[in-house]
Amino acid sequence: MQVFKLIETMGHQQISFCHDQKSGLKAIIAIHNTNLGPAMGGTRLFPYASEEDALKDVLRLSQAMTYKAACAKIAAGGGKGVIIAQPEHKTQELFEAYGSFVETFKGRFITGEDLNIFLEDVRQMSVKTGYLVGLQERYGGPGRATAIGIACGMEAAREFYFGKKDLHGLKVAVQGVGKVGKNLCQILSEQGVELFASDPIAERVRKANRLYQAHIVDIDEIYDLDVDIFAPCALGGIINSRTIPRLKMAIVAGSANNQLENEDIHSRMLARRKIIYCPDYVINAGGLINVYDEMMKIDENISLARVRNIADTLMEVFKIAEDNKITTLEASKGLAEQRFLKAKCDRPLVKTG
Ligand code: NAD
Repeated sequence: MQVFKLIETMGHQQISFCHDQKSGLKAIIAIHNTNLGPAMGGTRLFPYASEEDALKDVLRLSQAMTYKAACAKIAAGGGKGVIIAQPEHKTQELFEAYGSFVETFKGRFITGEDLNIFLEDVRQMSVKTGYLVGLQERYGGPGRATAIGIACGMEAAREFYFGKKDLHGLKVAVQGVGKVGKNLCQILSEQGVELFASDPIAERVRKANRLYQAHIVDIDEIYDLDVDIFAPCALGGIINSRTIPRLKMAIVAGSANNQLENEDIHSRMLARRKIIYCPDYVINAGGLINVYDEMMKIDENISLARVRNIADTLMEVFKIAEDNKITTLEASKGLAEQRFLKAKCDRPLVKTG
């Protein structure tokens, strides 16, 4: 693997590796871009099959954070951390060692929860560093804020392409009813949406059925449903050459990061099938806005309005795409790059703890 070539192509500023003998920590922190402010992004813990897989993941995720922050008009850059470990091997020592690693960036990297990292793990990191977000879980927490942004994004897509914002009476398939998916089901059921939900954790789909009358569907069946909107809220890479030919919905609008297995190929495939794709890093920015606003002590109502503003950003993306006959992904990339590539600033860093 040609690491420098990859970094050059993707535009990263810094990649740091850490190995702590005592705790066994093996971690990578990638800083993609800090033009708009300190690099922000969660830390993911995952038993990657290889070090190369871990590196590729952290590079892709940190790059997406730069685009997400720029589209959300947040004074932050993009970064991400990954810890290579089995979720069942988490220890206090491991997270303290990781906290010390984060501290070495002196605020150039600020992190929090992500896949397999929960609030209690972030609290253990806080013994060694203050450069953390999401510890207070204010305004309903990032999962709730992300779901609010997704619902607003669905309305924006409906309004732009179908001339009506109302979601009432529509059918929506939610893949994954975890922190975001369950909140999304609640919001949509209050708007009179008919829900379909899948999740390998049976208790979670049963709960969605009990609370929001969601129809329970099999894991693989979700791609074949005759619904209006598909909301991927679980894994990345699920929109690909195998699944796209099966999709019947008009809109894809969900929270999962890196939904497209291959951005160029699969965004074009969706466009050819006239399926509207709401770019993941635009529509799922609610969580980032939530933790950023918590850090900056921004008023709750202002923060909520900023999350709802995701609808306006998406409208802008749809208009650029339509005017220039490009995909929505290309439009959102252009919008983000205009913001972060032009900016060149050294903003003061904030100590959050
Ligand atoms: P989560 O871990 O709480 O929930 C994910 C759910 O998906 C789990 O219930 C899991 O069992 C389920 N799942 C796993 N594989 C599945 C499959 N094949 N089919 C259906 N369901 C499956 O995670 P979350 O916080 O709800 O985040 C969901 C997605 O949104 C992730 O990709 C995450 O990176 C992204 N995201 C989350 C936030 C946030 O604030 N939580 C913000 C932005 C993006």
